[in-house]
Amino acid sequence: MTQAAIEISNLVKTYAPQHNQPEKYALKGVDLTIPRGSIFGLLGPNGAGKSTMINILAGLVNKTSGSIRIWGFDQDQSPRQSRAAIGVMPQELNLDPFFTPRGALEVQAGLYGIPAKDRQSDAILEMVGLTDKAHAYARTLSGGMRRRLLLAKALVHHPQILVLDEPTAGVDIELRQMLWQNVRRLNRERGMTIILTTHYLEEAEEMCDEIAILSQGQIVTQDTTKNLLGKLDAKALIIQPAHPVSQLPQSDHITTTQRDDGSIVFSYRAQDITADDVLQFVKSSGITIADVRTEQADLEDVFLSLTKSA
Ligand code: ADP
Ligand code: MG
Repeated sequence: MTQAAIEISNLVKTYAPQHNQPEKYALKGVDLTIPRGSIFGLLGPNGAGKSTMINILAGLVNKTSGSIRIWGFDQDQSPRQSRAAIGVMPQELNLDPFFTPRGALEVQAGLYGIPAKDRQSDAILEMVGLTDKAHAYARTLSGGMRRRLLLAKALVHHPQILVLDEPTAGVDIELRQMLWQNVRRLNRERGMTIILTTHYLEEAEEMCDEIAILSQGQIVTQDTTKNLLGKLDAKALIIQPAHPVSQLPQSDHITTTQRDDGSIVFSYRAQDITADDVLQFVKSSGITIADVRTEQADLEDVFLSLTKSA
């Protein structure tokens, strides 16, 4: 079979109007094919529609229109098979506080109709490092442990596709490493297709074979990670000014934004100019530099610089 892991065509989602706001288009006709066996990154700034898309795949949110095939099964025509093929670790830490991790996994297995003899609750708890907490109430678990439990729940029914929605937003280094280790192993050893969303380019660069970028409810590009990073080529110089700066300097090849802490981000593309050019520009703008560091631009900066140079 040459079928894709996921095939999305013309997916539209509008949320009902709220508080006198107009109808909200979260997804505006998304077409996306995700190959089997890959680690696939869905990238985009906050509000792009990533969670909406993931939650539709998971069957947690109803689509407005469009069609979705999961592991070859149409979501509307074969809801049971398509649901069985996918496990989702949601962005929100929504757990029943009165279940223990082990209890939660057993309930989840029951929901998917996994017979008792085929359940692997203890092995899954061990894999995510929750063996010690197997019998603790979920409400006593730390945020990191809850995230581990959500990953465990997503794996209970042995799905072919594992989806992780912003798995590392706000987690500590240890948990991040555990997550990535597990994800790589599931991909390598079991051939599991992994889809993860993130707004960190660096993370996608490290983990993903292929990336799609979602912006304002539309896919703006899809390519192998290697090709994409070559295209983006984005850098940022972060300056802490010695004195408050009221007017941000402007330039053709540099996008200037200010952060809440007063630091100023100068985003640019390495193919256009050098870091030295940027520093010259900062000095010629009359800004006294108290501190300076570089960053790989995050997607938000990248979008700014791409839209500006376009
Ligand atoms: P992302 O995960 O990329 O940050 P989301 O899918 O959460 O983006 O949100 C996409 C857009 O849809 C945003 O503008 C958000 O405010 C809106 N949105 C998300 N969930 C809801 C909801 N339940 N009701 C109304 N609007 C929503
Ligand atoms: Mg989200």
